[in-house]
Amino acid sequence: MSNLTDQISSRRTFAIISHPDAGKTTLTEKLLLYTGSIQTAGSVKGKASAKHAVSDWMDIEKERGISVTSSVLQFSYGGHFVNILDTPGHQDFSEDTYRTLMAADAAVMVIDGAKGVEAQTIKLFKVCTLRHIPIFTFVNKLDHDTRDPFELMEEIEDVLGIDTYPMNWPIGSGRNFRGVFDRQSRHVLAFQGDGHANATKKVGEIEAELGDAKLDELIGEENHKNLMDDIELLDGADNEFDMDAVSCGKLSPVFFGSALTNFGVEPFLKEFLRMAPEPLAYTDTLTGQKVDPATDEFSGFVFKIQANMDKNHRDRVAFVRICSGKFERGMDAWHVQGDRKLKLATGTSMMADDRAIVDEAYAGDIVGLFDPGIFSIGDTVCDMRHHVKYPQIPTFAPEHFARIEQVDTLKRKQFIKGMEEIAQEGAIQIFREWGMGMERVVVGVVGVLQLDVLERRLKSEYHVGIRRTPLPYTQIRWITNDPDELDLRSLNLTRDTLRVEDMRGGRLLLFTNEWNVNWAVERNEGLKLSEVGNIT
Ligand code: GDP
Repeated sequence: MSNLTDQISSRRTFAIISHPDAGKTTLTEKLLLYTGSIQTAGSVKGKASAKHAVSDWMDIEKERGISVTSSVLQFSYGGHFVNILDTPGHQDFSEDTYRTLMAADAAVMVIDGAKGVEAQTIKLFKVCTLRHIPIFTFVNKLDHDTRDPFELMEEIEDVLGIDTYPMNWPIGSGRNFRGVFDRQSRHVLAFQGDGHANATKKVGEIEAELGDAKLDELIGEENHKNLMDDIELLDGADNEFDMDAVSCGKLSPVFFGSALTNFGVEPFLKEFLRMAPEPLAYTDTLTGQKVDPATDEFSGFVFKIQANMDKNHRDRVAFVRICSGKFERGMDAWHVQGDRKLKLATGTSMMADDRAIVDEAYAGDIVGLFDPGIFSIGDTVCDMRHHVKYPQIPTFAPEHFARIEQVDTLKRKQFIKGMEEIAQEGAIQIFREWGMGMERVVVGVVGVLQLDVLERRLKSEYHVGIRRTPLPYTQIRWITNDPDELDLRSLNLTRDTLRVEDMRGGRLLLFTNEWNVNWAVERNEGLKLSEVGNIT
């Protein structure tokens, strides 16, 4: 396959979202198993595996059993090149999930069949709908007793506000789980053998037609009868399968299975790859036009920056989603925000936890570029002659604030470096208190766990200890007046309102509640305030 169009149209790039523990990691492992990328499942950041400890601060993931980093995995299957973008399961990192989704063409939502829609699925799902991309649902853990599938579908529709269409239907659950019925082929796919325990091999499956007498034997008479009743109900339901509704994220195709025992994973993968879109076209803000992914001219944007991913390298990686054309290692490209030429010297892609150098990649793929500190999230890199500029990635308004001070004044430089680098990754936002230097800053985050990660990373990567004081602010507003037009000193504010500056010198106010925001606007004629990030 050498033709550019063929290469690009074979790409499928998607993100997986789930509440922690629903089975995202296990499903990812099993997907890799089918692709021949790994011989036995269990090598994807298995929680107890040594590979998991890529850097010290990931200890926090191990301790809390959450995934903080988003990594990218690539594999090929059935003529497709598949890119899976992993996202943190915890809602405190929903901004990271949002940025990752900016680079994805589809999302897979994993739901625990016994628990249904959980608190953190809701927040992550909301983030997903902002992108209007297709959302596929995988209801997992069918080998355990699960809730009634009709009830689960209803919950997804009611709580998440998305229509559902079951692509297959489970036959029994828990010990009684026998397989799934594929609604399109109208075949039953039954487990062969007991297939339970943590299957590390492809599971045997037998196909049979509904109503066939041998099904009584295969799945049990009662299961067979229940299945026929369920299917009659489903077929009679209103929800039609509508691919257009799937494409814009209004209808979610639902699959049932068990990632752990491997059942239903391959049928899901096949169907998913058939329905998931080819690399989508992104809009160039310079012309307002969509850029055809299959043009010859390379372009992409940075959606994630991560420092110190690997202790042995101590480098910073900027993850670029390629939006058009072909990437070649060592190629010259234009960095739009930096207004200068760059040599894209290193391209890495992630295969499980190991990095592989990438020589070429195509629209839809993700490459990790070595970043000497020049990139910011949202930056565009493109062809030298044909410039495009992709939209900025909006930031979330911080919801929690803390004052962070360095403990050891001799480490001022490391402290500032660490704070700045972590802020550039978009993991925190930093503000200087009015009239103060950088040895004491105010940090704003979307979720408090981000503060734990900050503290841990400063210690392990920059060797600085900090003192952290929670602050009571909940609202943040930009002052949009010109600096000459308005002197901060002259503002009449409640005593619990804080004046701060961001790293670009922008002026902001932090309030403890909405009432104080109104108070400030009413008492200061001409004061213009605007919201910071308004996408949540
Ligand atoms: P993540 O936090 O969403 O990545 O979840 P994991 O993939 O780490 O799974 C959380 C736990 O659920 C682990 O103990 C898995 O072994 C278990 N698990 C995952 N999939 C299944 C499944 O299909 N059936 C059962 N019984 N357990 C599962």
